[in-house]
Amino acid sequence: TSRFADIQQAPPIEVFHVMKAFADSTHEKKVNLSVGAYRTDEAKPWVLPVVRKVEAELAADMTLNHEYLPILGLESFSTAAAKMLLGASHPAIAEGRMTAVQVLSGTGGLRIAAEFLHRILKYNTFYFSTPTWGNHRLIFTQAGFTDVRQYRYWDGKTKGLDFDGMIEDLQNAPENSVVILHSCAHNPTGVDPTQDQWKKIADVVEERKLFPLFDSAYQGFASGDLDKDAWAVRLFAERGFEMIATQSFSKNFGLYNERVGNLMIVVKDPSVIVPMRSQITLLVRGSYSNPPSHGARIVSRVLNDEALFGEWKECIKIMSGRIIEMRKGLQERLEKLGTPGTWNHITAQIGMFSFTGLSAEQSKYLAEKYHIYLLSSGRINMCGLTTGNIDYVAEAINDAVC
Ligand code: PLP
Repeated sequence: TSRFADIQQAPPIEVFHVMKAFADSTHEKKVNLSVGAYRTDEAKPWVLPVVRKVEAELAADMTLNHEYLPILGLESFSTAAAKMLLGASHPAIAEGRMTAVQVLSGTGGLRIAAEFLHRILKYNTFYFSTPTWGNHRLIFTQAGFTDVRQYRYWDGKTKGLDFDGMIEDLQNAPENSVVILHSCAHNPTGVDPTQDQWKKIADVVEERKLFPLFDSAYQGFASGDLDKDAWAVRLFAERGFEMIATQSFSKNFGLYNERVGNLMIVVKDPSVIVPMRSQITLLVRGSYSNPPSHGARIVSRVLNDEALFGEWKECIKIMSGRIIEMRKGLQERLEKLGTPGTWNHITAQIGMFSFTGLSAEQSKYLAEKYHIYLLSSGRINMCGLTTGNIDYVAEAINDAVC
């Protein structure tokens, strides 16, 4: 017998499972509302024109080569990325209290952050929202955290934020718990705290001496405005917290498979940065040695060049604008059809996803009868909607709910 014979079958990752069901369907009207990636109004992936342009420049640049990057990546990228998140004039930057390293996209940044917090700082408790992006638990437990806790977030009755529940749970958190916060466009609910609520959250994090970790996967993609989407992170930085933020460039640059990410740390005292970076160097060295360059070069060129930066900002406006249009369109159609329930949450929510309130059975019904594929939680990717399929989807949801 094989030494591998006793290995148990691991559960499937739902989103990839649903994507396969979509790919296997031969129905002419099939719709994919599952995967977290942007689609054009023709339901196609979009390579941003500014990305195409920079890629052509990179290909023609004979001074570039495929030598290894440093272990902590391309500095021109990570500094520009951190400035984009904190704001270029943030005092933490001028005072040398910020450091940033290039990592393997948002996921890789969270993993290095989790390992750093667990192995080096010896933190062992982490909190994520109920619900959250499916990978948070896996990343933190695989990095060694054993005390897994949740704070309340989604209120199914109001289809909004359970703010009192969230605050109560954080008030009961032990000191040094790591609290994962979505900096904007919460995945999967699309519900963000208001500015006043963020201030209250910061109060509790301070009082209870918790450690804030911001997962920033949608800056600019959510509202179309980079500053607006960074508001919560900047509030915490201004209030003087020591904190980590991980940045993904998958969505806002459409660079999903290039794995472009940044891990940014703000500290109180610049003298801790050198030893801290030396420990992160070992964590990276022992896991993937050094990051890839292609995507980071693209982002670095765009963020460091005023004209390209302007072109990119137009692209994020196009993406966020299309999503906002689809939200309006879906709400209007459901209301016009008289679909039971309230649907204003669809436009109140922000970002790529909408938590529709559809049940697991209703999701299954949509897949089986209409070949419309979404997650069993009722989460839909708004980008899967197009002017060509929105009527079909609204009528199908109406049928599933009625
Ligand atoms: N965090 C959240 C909340 C996400 O939704 C995602 C992607 O869906 C990520 C992090 C990480 O994505 P990536 O590893 O592609 O940057």
